[in-house]
Amino acid sequence: MSELGPITMRDLSLIPVERLRGVGPKKQASLAMVGITNLLDLVTTYPRRWIDRTNEARIADLIPGQEALVLVTIRSVTKRTTRNRRSMINVNVGDGSGRMDLVFFNQPWRERQFKEGLHVALFGKADTYRGGLQMSNPVVDLIGDRTGKIVPIYPQSEKAQINTWEMAGWVEETLRRCAERTIADPVPEAIRRRHRLIDRSEALAGIHLPDDMKTKELARYRLAFDELLRVQLVLVLRKRALERDSLGIVHTIGGPLVKRFYESLPFPLTGAQTRTIEEINADLGSTQPMHRLLQGDVGSGKTVVAVAALLAAVDGGHQGALMAPTEVLAEQHATSVRAMLDGVTVPDPGNLFGDRPLRVELLTNRVTGADRKQVLAGLADGSVDIAIGTHALIQDTVDFSSLGVVVVDEQHRFGVEQRAALRSKTANGAVPDTLVMTATPIPRTAAMTVYGDLDVSVLDELPPGRTPIVTMWADGGLMEAGVWNDIKDEVAAGRQAYVVCPLVGESEKLEVASAEETLERLAFGELQGLRLGMLHGKLPSDEKAVTMDRFRRGELDVLVATTVIEVGVDVPNATVMAILDADRFGIAQLHQLRGRVGRGEHASTCWLVTQQKEDDEGNAVVGNPRVEALVATTDGFELAEVDLDLRGEGTLMSTAQKGRSDLKLASLRRDRKLVELARGAAFEIVDGDPDLAKHSSLADELDLVFSDQDEEFLAKS
Ligand code: ADP
Ligand code: MG
Repeated sequence: MSELGPITMRDLSLIPVERLRGVGPKKQASLAMVGITNLLDLVTTYPRRWIDRTNEARIADLIPGQEALVLVTIRSVTKRTTRNRRSMINVNVGDGSGRMDLVFFNQPWRERQFKEGLHVALFGKADTYRGGLQMSNPVVDLIGDRTGKIVPIYPQSEKAQINTWEMAGWVEETLRRCAERTIADPVPEAIRRRHRLIDRSEALAGIHLPDDMKTKELARYRLAFDELLRVQLVLVLRKRALERDSLGIVHTIGGPLVKRFYESLPFPLTGAQTRTIEEINADLGSTQPMHRLLQGDVGSGKTVVAVAALLAAVDGGHQGALMAPTEVLAEQHATSVRAMLDGVTVPDPGNLFGDRPLRVELLTNRVTGADRKQVLAGLADGSVDIAIGTHALIQDTVDFSSLGVVVVDEQHRFGVEQRAALRSKTANGAVPDTLVMTATPIPRTAAMTVYGDLDVSVLDELPPGRTPIVTMWADGGLMEAGVWNDIKDEVAAGRQAYVVCPLVGESEKLEVASAEETLERLAFGELQGLRLGMLHGKLPSDEKAVTMDRFRRGELDVLVATTVIEVGVDVPNATVMAILDADRFGIAQLHQLRGRVGRGEHASTCWLVTQQKEDDEGNAVVGNPRVEALVATTDGFELAEVDLDLRGEGTLMSTAQKGRSDLKLASLRRDRKLVELARGAAFEIVDGDPDLAKHSSLADELDLVFSDQDEEFLAKS
């Protein structure tokens, strides 16, 4: 056997779980239900918790008010319904030293989970209750009859009928059967040594069967590094390949149009704008196409930077395109870009006067008929200099004469595929330069992963003269009344307001209903007498445009809207925003929404309205970390860090990717340092061996772990 050499991930992936003792057709089906069909799936299903029995207390030693871990046996279970009709499960448990009661509120399924005689680990705080000890809602792990100092707790599935001790048994058997040949380690030894990474065999044993918590931590560190290294390798390979293979356009820097544009601006550029434009110009002037991410908080002045890049294309006789995620936003961009470029002319040899006006055209699905034909013809013959639109811009029927620069205003709405499609509209074989703008700041390490093949510029300075937005939390009906008064006061002073309706699940239909309900309630109640308008995603786009125009012109006092106003809407006279059920939104979204106010000279307020909540026992819940974060700061980068912290494990990758390439152990939150190490290692490996010819086992692992789809996803940013 041993002449076969160490066992690779690929080897493991080729052995079906049925080869294990105790896995027959029934268990095979159960395992398949949780996505485990082979031994690779099995050994990369890591424990979600480890119980350290050396830290375990006995019931007799529990101190009221202190958290502790106890291992107990279930004695009896009873179910009751409380006076306010909550379910309540009482469980009596014991160990050799004594007994105590557990109580679970609103968890009726616990009745089925707890069978008499079952061994469970409990983590929680015991309190004295009626002379005895009681734990309410402790963390519960079923541990079966596992022994050992550290008991791994695997993800269990009641539906699939798999429990943690079975998982532990199978993993143990797998690792035992790998022991002789050992498990291959594809990470170069120099890198392992430098970063003090333990060997992979050791790491797999250490994560599943640790002798102590320190071993488990070292194992986790090593395996998390592997996950991150693989992601970074894909990204870095892609980045280097793009740089090598694609021919870009060498743009004219500092041409006449750009100069005229700067001169026409009514304000000087901020320091951050100047620096960012320099970074972009360096890319534009090089032979390699730009792939750059421009991060800048709401109001940081990204549009000016974008227009400067677009004009560089036009200066060299090419075209620029600006793509926005919604029609409303595309129209708004068109309006503001046209205003910025009003009176700017382009040299035109065919024209008697030597000049023609710069031509900016809008292309969305609302541009139809003869208008559309004209725009399309202009894009194809090069007479349209700058195209602004939605995804309509990337349809196959749209031909550009020579697309030189593409700006994608992403705002977290675009799919990566769409960006790639726009980039594929080449000019005579040359790839257009791409600038992706996002108003949702992303922490550095997350940007390295999510946008790993892009270079990053940051607009970290707001233009002067802004009055900062004051954010306040209105918790409960009493405070909410104050919010409506504030809105009425502002309207009386000539200002305008937004009311953002509660987010209702994933359903647009429910969201529309909630917007309609809110409008009605306010129109006949709290905001009676004010001029209200409504905006939501289901309205026909011309109706949306009419409403937006009326609001912009001040013919509406209050705009009741769903999150469609999250992006781009720019009405400087709007100075109050009330976000209803604010606790249902994510931090990034709240920050985006809030950015719709504070855009003018007047001081602005954002009210985060929540309904007072009670916990299972009927006590008022105090504190809402996301809402509090918004109240504490308006700095988007700070919020992005808080967001990453609060969201915990899984974070960005898991929403975007599924399957083997998921980050299972690595966390972008906890492992920021490790992300950077992995990225550095990836550059080191790829730059010394561009097609991984000398690292064939690593290359094979990438092949195994990433589906084509994953690679596309990672690569297409
Ligand atoms: P973003 O797209 O980053 O949210 P915008 O580009 O829409 O920001 O700019 C927000 C506002 O700031 C606009 O009204 C714009 O005219 C103005 N602005 C941009 N740059 C400057 C600057 N350097 N000085 C003053 N105002 C600026
Ligand atoms: Mg903008």
